[in-house]
Amino acid sequence: MTKRLVLPSVTRDVVTRHGFSFKKSLGQNFLIDGNILDKIVTAAELDDQNGALEIGPGIGTLTQELCENARQVVAVEKDNRLLAVLEETLSDYNNVHVHHADVLEADLHALFQQWFSGMEVSVVANLPYYVTTPIVMKLLEERLPLRHIVVMVQREVAERMAAKPGGKDYGTLSIAVQYYTEPELVTRVPESSFMPAPNVESTVIKLKVRKAPAVSVQDEKLFFHLVKASFAQRRKTLLNNLQNNLQPKREKDTILAALERTGIEPSRRGETLSLEEYAKLADALVIS
Ligand code: SAM
Repeated sequence: MTKRLVLPSVTRDVVTRHGFSFKKSLGQNFLIDGNILDKIVTAAELDDQNGALEIGPGIGTLTQELCENARQVVAVEKDNRLLAVLEETLSDYNNVHVHHADVLEADLHALFQQWFSGMEVSVVANLPYYVTTPIVMKLLEERLPLRHIVVMVQREVAERMAAKPGGKDYGTLSIAVQYYTEPELVTRVPESSFMPAPNVESTVIKLKVRKAPAVSVQDEKLFFHLVKASFAQRRKTLLNNLQNNLQPKREKDTILAALERTGIEPSRRGETLSLEEYAKLADALVIS
């Protein structure tokens, strides 16, 4: 392997030689902590049979390690100024494809067909924080053949993804992530692990993608509408939120009957319901 880019002196050298200036608007904080890099790669459980999709390779710090450990790597980068840098830093590898695109607009199914045919794939990335949630939701909702999603995110976002019912962190993101995956916090990451240092703390989270969703529901769209409506105003009761926010709108009596059939008190708050309770309530609303 060429010099490990994760060494701060090597990152500084590459950035300076290419006259690269960091763009805050693209969440450009490059990893310069070898210990954290190793933890990310270990958590991803890569092997020479399977693929790795990286979102936002930057100058290629994590990409190099993915190339060493996976059969095929695809790295999607939005910033065209980084393409020449990546060409240089990844020149030792013939198992990487750099795709220039905004990941939110990229046709990931097409990329998978072209590059990962017959492979299981893990997403491994140090995500740009301004778009973490849309990226993770896209990966989950598109139902790509994913094994793990191991990503560096802002600490509060990781805590919300992994939160259990009853606390302030539990909400629509927790439910969506836990519907599709089993989250596990891997490690906390201090600001000093990045160049430049961000002004938020970070956490690496591993999402083990489930073979089937955590709960089975008759109408998935209704399930997610129900969850969204239940959290519309966190301090209001479930009944109140559902009356005001459920789409399509339901009569109060219809909602009360569904709550009664599922044994859920109308005075509870959305943040106290488990995934199983949301699933039961969604099914009760289908037939009413
Ligand atoms: N992987 C590198 C590392 O760990 O040092 C860089 C991580 S940096 C936090 C985020 C990267 O995502 C940057 O390279 C940035 O240009 C890229 N990026 C930002 N928005 C993106 C988007 N919508 N689609 C793809 N890449 C994006």
